[in-house]
Amino acid sequence: MAALEVIDKFTGEIIRTLPIAEAADVDAAVGRAQRAFPAWAATPAHRRSAILLGAAERIRARTEEFATLIAREAGKAWKYAAGEVVRSVETFTFAGEEAKRIHGETVPMDASAFGEGRVGFYLRAPLGVVSAITPFNFPLNLVAHKVGPALAAGNTLVLKPAEETPLTAILMAECFRDAGLPDGVMELVHGPGEVTGDALVRHPGPAKVSFTGSPPVGAHILKVAGLKRVTLELGNNSGTIVEPDASLDQAVPRTVMSAFANSGQVCISLQRLYVHEAIADAFLERFVAVTRALKIGNPLDRDCDVGPMISDEAADRAETWIREALDEGARALTDFRREGRMLWPVVLTNTRPDMKVMCREAFAPLVSVVRYRSFEDGLAMLADSPYGLQAGIYTNDLKKAFRAVAALDVGGVMVNDTSIFRVDHMPYGGNRMSGIGREGVRFAIEEMTNLKLVCLNLGD
Ligand code: NAP
Repeated sequence: MAALEVIDKFTGEIIRTLPIAEAADVDAAVGRAQRAFPAWAATPAHRRSAILLGAAERIRARTEEFATLIAREAGKAWKYAAGEVVRSVETFTFAGEEAKRIHGETVPMDASAFGEGRVGFYLRAPLGVVSAITPFNFPLNLVAHKVGPALAAGNTLVLKPAEETPLTAILMAECFRDAGLPDGVMELVHGPGEVTGDALVRHPGPAKVSFTGSPPVGAHILKVAGLKRVTLELGNNSGTIVEPDASLDQAVPRTVMSAFANSGQVCISLQRLYVHEAIADAFLERFVAVTRALKIGNPLDRDCDVGPMISDEAADRAETWIREALDEGARALTDFRREGRMLWPVVLTNTRPDMKVMCREAFAPLVSVVRYRSFEDGLAMLADSPYGLQAGIYTNDLKKAFRAVAALDVGGVMVNDTSIFRVDHMPYGGNRMSGIGREGVRFAIEEMTNLKLVCLNLGD
């Protein structure tokens, strides 16, 4: 059986080796989840809730261990890794709370003449087995966004975490076992997407695929999944506008963090930053100064801001795109530096909308700063994207804020913040190339349940 080597992204050391799940292993995992489904679906809501809350508490108690593991296998700076653990505890807590309020409503059947004498109501029933496939960049919280709602709703699931970062999911599963989750309710399979992920997506057993990852893989999954529900949480080339009335004290540190946290490997990382020309010089001077002051290096250092990228290939791609942009006339306002998986934050100006660093999802520590003349021009540039996940606008003018809300075809608009803002109970997801469906615990539960109508004929 082939093996998966999970490495420390900063040192290159092998942390652990896992067996790769082939099609037969995936089939066995789906079978165990199918057999566990009837009992879990019949488990009372308060019991499902208690297990979710118990797991959340166990994760919280092991924050240090989780954060260290995330920092090592994902290369995420420790402070952001610890922040991810806090958020995951919240996500599982929300799931534990939502487990107790999954319900339908009554239907006024007699609104139709054909419905006279009847009483109707609907319930929300679990789907069955959910296949969950997750990316490397939030190895705990994006797993939580699938595990929490699936278990809250009474589904069982088979989870395939990213091959770069499976160890955090294994530790999370341990917390669920300790909290009393019965065998088979959550199965983990490990391996490359094209092998293990593909077998899971094509398997006819699960009722749903819940996928978070890149648009090309999402589009492929939609083609091969067959007759099942599919939720796709995909990428973005996220943008934010800064208007002249914005507070630079607020906007500058926040936009720098939004561009470079987790080496820009966040689906709502700030990649296109549009700044009104009236404040562009002052903004850029401060933006570059704050960027230069970031601490780059070992993610285990408590004050590290930017660690390594996930792989050499990811750093190679980012470097190629940056060099291509520079060759075509872009300017870098920070020193361009690359060592293995480490890529130092890059601030670009003079970029064009058709350059890859602008029109494709970079998923790297780079940002383009673009000047605009009028609010309408800036808004048009921000809206010019095939993606539609989230966008930001800094202004204290409510009319402008609402013009942006109306104009942008995205899942979320953040006013006086950047595209990166998210809390885990809000509806979250993208339009167009950014995906199909929404997460955010309650909203994911809606997508992981079937409505079942009951109609009572009380007439003669
Ligand atoms: P990815 O390459 O698409 O991989 C995501 C997951 O899909 C991984 O588990 C991967 O397995 C698996 N996979 C790959 N090919 C597959 C196939 N043919 N069939 C089934 N599964 C397959 O994405 P990534 O590089 O890990 O993550 C970055 C992307 O995720 C970016 O586009 C980012 O914007 C997006 N993202 C979106 C959100 C959101 O909520 N909208 C959040 C975070 C990230 P392997 O790891 O083994 O390749």
